[in-house]
Amino acid sequence: MRVLVVGAGVAGPTLAYWLMRTGHEPTLVERAPRLRDGGYVVDFWGAGFDVAERMGIVPRLREEGYRFREAREVSKSGRRIAHFDPVHVIEGAAAGRYVTVGRSDLARTIYEAMDGAVETIFDDTVESLTDDGDRVLVRFVSGAEREFDLVVGADGLHSRVRDLAFGPEREYERYLGITVAAFDLDGYRPRDELVAVMHTEVGAQTLRLALRDGATMFCCMFRHDGDVPVDDLPAQKELLRERLSDVGWELPGILTQLSQARTFYMDRASQILLPSWSRGRIALIGDAAACPSLLAGQGSALAMAEAYVLACALHDSGGDHRAAFSAYHARLATLVRTKQDAAVGLGAAFAPRNRFQLLLRDAVFGAMGLPFVAHLAMGRSFRDPVELPRVPTG
Ligand SMILES: Cc1cc2nc3c(=O)[nH]c(=O)nc-3n(C[C@H](O)[C@H](O)[C@H](O)COP(=O)(O)OP(=O)(O)OC[C@H]3O[C@@H](n4cnc5c(N)ncnc54)[C@H](O)[C@@H]3O)c2cc1C
Repeated sequence: MRVLVVGAGVAGPTLAYWLMRTGHEPTLVERAPRLRDGGYVVDFWGAGFDVAERMGIVPRLREEGYRFREAREVSKSGRRIAHFDPVHVIEGAAAGRYVTVGRSDLARTIYEAMDGAVETIFDDTVESLTDDGDRVLVRFVSGAEREFDLVVGADGLHSRVRDLAFGPEREYERYLGITVAAFDLDGYRPRDELVAVMHTEVGAQTLRLALRDGATMFCCMFRHDGDVPVDDLPAQKELLRERLSDVGWELPGILTQLSQARTFYMDRASQILLPSWSRGRIALIGDAAACPSLLAGQGSALAMAEAYVLACALHDSGGDHRAAFSAYHARLATLVRTKQDAAVGLGAAFAPRNRFQLLLRDAVFGAMGLPFVAHLAMGRSFRDPVELPRVPTG
């Protein structure tokens, strides 16, 4: 089948890879002029790790990734108040099937696994989709028109494909009350190599990670009920300055350098809850289908699992897309919903609502070195209770 996959992030190239391997003809379309680089890092494990292993990309991800030797919580003055060894605790809980890697490095590694064999259109996107029952007529923003047997939206949290096929985002969005900003600065000091340094206050948390080539990544999360400016970088940076200038620690210095950020991302921490992930010949995967939010810490892995399961379902159904879409949803819907619901309760760990939640959070963080606390706090989340289909052949 000719399948248009919209979005070359994590989910899209994973799907294109498996469609290509199973004899279909995928085309990727990506709105950006090229694959993105820089940006934030993601922790990657679970069913998505298994898919990466089946694609043979785990060694490369380990090479590109980071092994942080300490997760450290600091006070306003920078004094260490709690810490644990993530290699021991997290890799232990995940039995070594875990990697921390730049999101853009993950996306590029997946993309390169296709070795140039999949047609990719950059700097364009879909303008309209007309599903006539036998095929989908796609009109691109560039003015081109093409027909595909199927269209799959892998275009992230604010999916255009979802808007076109399912209706406006507000009907499916669950906002978790926290806004996130992630950005990287060159030459920031101090660095603390391979230490994840965090400062948490009531209502806000800032994480600092020293990356390669002199870059430092920051991730700020803060409670926020108002709107977040869209496609307006100066206004987004202003919102961050407004909300975090009183927090203390290194924030005054960090915020002063914000104008030199190499990349800057700001968005609401939201989830997408849809009763089904397909309409006719159009389906969704990744954040477009079921974003669990960054609080779940598993969006990338789920995106890869969804892409793989959909490709297997299309293969196993012999081209019956209705049967495939329904098998795909049936296999993963419960897992994804469980992750989404669990993430709702995690907001207090990132941006505590009050002093009591802050003290409790710091106490749990400090006790993470104890195996039973680590197990209780996150042990179960490292095991995805889902059986992936066997690798399709032919
Ligand atoms: C700060 C932060 C930290 C995170 N930490 C983690 C973590 O630790 N672990 C984890 O697993 N996940 C984490 N996530 C979530 C993770 O990044 C996402 O869940 C994952 O990237 C989803 O993959 P995706 O392919 O569905 O979407 P994306 O990676 O968002 O890719 C979507 C792609 O579609 C393109 N696109 C968008 N609109 C269009 C359009 N109209 N037409 C064509 N192309 C389009 C975009 O340019 C992009 O390339 C984090 C997210 C954030 C913001």
